[in-house]
Amino acid sequence: MSSLKNFFYPKSICVAGASTKEKSIGYELLKTIKTYDYTGKVFPVNPKAEEILGYKCFRSIEEIDDPVDLAILVVPKQFAEASVDQLIQKKVKSIILITAGFKEIGKEGEELEKRVLEKIKNSGARMVGPNCMGIINTLDKSKLNATFVAEKPETGATGFLSQSGALGAAVLNSLRETDIKFAHFISVGNKADINETDILRFWQEDENIKTLTFYLESFVNGLDFVRPFMTGEILKPAIVLKAGRTKSGMKAASSHTGALGGEDKVVNALLDQFGIIRADNLNELFNTAKGFEYFPAPKGARVAVITNAGGPAILCVDSLEKEGLVLANFSDETKKSLREFVHPEGSVENPVDLLPGGTAETYKKAAGIAAEDENVDAVISIFVEPVMVSPFEVIEGISSLQCDKPVLQVVMPLPEFWNEYRKNSSKKLPLFRNPEDPAEVLSNILFYSSSQKRLAENREGYTSMLSLNKNINNYLNGFLPQSEISALCAKYGLPLVLNRIIDGSEVEKFEEAFYPLVLKGINKSVVHKSELNAVKLNVREKAELISAAEEIGRNFHDAGYEVENFLIQPFIKTKHELLIGGFRDPSFGPVLMFGSGGKYVEVFSDTCMKSAFLCDSDIEEMISGTSIGKILRGVRGEDPQDIKELKKIIVNCARMLIENENILEFDLNPLIAAQDGKYYAVDVRVKIK
Ligand code: ADP
Ligand code: MG
Repeated sequence: MSSLKNFFYPKSICVAGASTKEKSIGYELLKTIKTYDYTGKVFPVNPKAEEILGYKCFRSIEEIDDPVDLAILVVPKQFAEASVDQLIQKKVKSIILITAGFKEIGKEGEELEKRVLEKIKNSGARMVGPNCMGIINTLDKSKLNATFVAEKPETGATGFLSQSGALGAAVLNSLRETDIKFAHFISVGNKADINETDILRFWQEDENIKTLTFYLESFVNGLDFVRPFMTGEILKPAIVLKAGRTKSGMKAASSHTGALGGEDKVVNALLDQFGIIRADNLNELFNTAKGFEYFPAPKGARVAVITNAGGPAILCVDSLEKEGLVLANFSDETKKSLREFVHPEGSVENPVDLLPGGTAETYKKAAGIAAEDENVDAVISIFVEPVMVSPFEVIEGISSLQCDKPVLQVVMPLPEFWNEYRKNSSKKLPLFRNPEDPAEVLSNILFYSSSQKRLAENREGYTSMLSLNKNINNYLNGFLPQSEISALCAKYGLPLVLNRIIDGSEVEKFEEAFYPLVLKGINKSVVHKSELNAVKLNVREKAELISAAEEIGRNFHDAGYEVENFLIQPFIKTKHELLIGGFRDPSFGPVLMFGSGGKYVEVFSDTCMKSAFLCDSDIEEMISGTSIGKILRGVRGEDPQDIKELKKIIVNCARMLIENENILEFDLNPLIAAQDGKYYAVDVRVKIK
């Protein structure tokens, strides 16, 4: 396995900065290691102590004769660098730097972090942190809890990475309430060396891990994170809770595409494209992980609901619709079987209402019958505890059903229940607390299955886009001039409308006969020409052309600009205005956008975004994912537009963005779908860095 194995499965660890003082991190960490029954050797290092918590103490790292698989540093910041030197000397290859006071505190800390990282890199070691909370491995062969959180997590098959130490601790502290079980927990802190992508790849290799969960505040490199999902290197479900949703809008947007982008939308679009589940909150993150770990995957979206109370069932049904699931239609046979024991006043239609008198036996029977119906893909049981029925038997009964469909249980019990349940809950299936939870879980699992299928079918498409040659052209910074745009469009087969570039003095001499035409005034600094009234449509003759040019000149002048050039184009008879745009996200790389175009794009914001590393089915989805795309396919008896040609233009735009690494942003707005059935890009902007 990769070089990260010793972080989770070390045979020996040294704790540099171990302390005899209770409540200090150096003491508490050692104590958790001990109380969690770590199976390997422990070497605390402290210059003054003989032993701590029964472990023999070493005066310095050099004094340890045995090999050290993993070093955990909790020394004060001023000793961190020297300790790293000693560890390197001792040829330790895995280091967790828990100590804080690095990049997160500013310039001085940043420099220290850089120095430490360089030393680590040069020695071939790897480092987790700094400013982190440590690692837990609950698996029997390791039993490592190198954190300073006293809670004892139980063994599961989920890996959980937290960028925030405090949030990680909060999750661990609430384990008794949430019943989350982990295989691995890692707090990555400042991510100076080891980051989410390293762990993602490590967990794919580690067969003990089934589901990968992440709490992230940033991606070190978003493209690196999603790429292995494109290529099929990651084949386990990954769920990401990414904080910072509200930080929207890209810096000063200099194009329509820029204004429609924004960090969070990019994260959303790309995680979605590559089958990575994005959770909205911790509850969804871990419920979904439980869903993957403990239940068979549903084959479809048809759900049976069994309840003993109306209100929660209604909330559950609402959540089904919200999550794109449906209430299953029971077969007559199912209804007949249910009728045999369901109270005459209860319902045998979906949702099945057993009324408060529903017993463990009727719950089990009803869930079993529903699960057997071929029109049902999943069952949700909702149990609101009435005084006369014990939830334990209901839970036991349903959990004992043998079937290959997921049966998810919501339990809304009396207050004492959870304490009691916890005492002997380790072997049982997880329960959900809110009637909306199961729908979220089921829909996430269905999303995962369908994405896996789509990704697998399109591997070739992705690899061919990933293998495009990338180069930097010697374009100048800023917006590409019209002449260069023409060349670029020609190279990538983009249907740029016929363009004549003339200067003011040439207007009177203009004799080419393509009236009716469009006259536009150009100045590099003017982003939206029509805002300055500098786009004159349907100019029918020479006299109109001359007066239009004069008017544009005046309009520019009044706004404090000069006309640098005029652009003359044929006036296209328009059916629809489209937009294809793209930009280079600093983290996720080239991103492409398709949607409604024209002057009002920001108002309609009818666009769909994908990584430019896209395959045919992604382009299909981009088109279907927008209202304008649906219209292009033909509504109300209208002839559809040439979708094949449009797809070609989209993929060529993607190639252009990928191959020319110094294109920062571009848009074709509008790309006109014309009455003659063809496409014309009448306004193309390309921003170069
Ligand atoms: P800007 O986006 O800078 O305001 P455009 O060149 O996109 O300027 O023109 C604005 C609008 O004018 C377009 O959205 C489109 O409706 C119309 N338009 C521009 N060029 C043409 C053309 N050649 N044929 C038909 N309509 C055009
Ligand atoms: Mg435009």
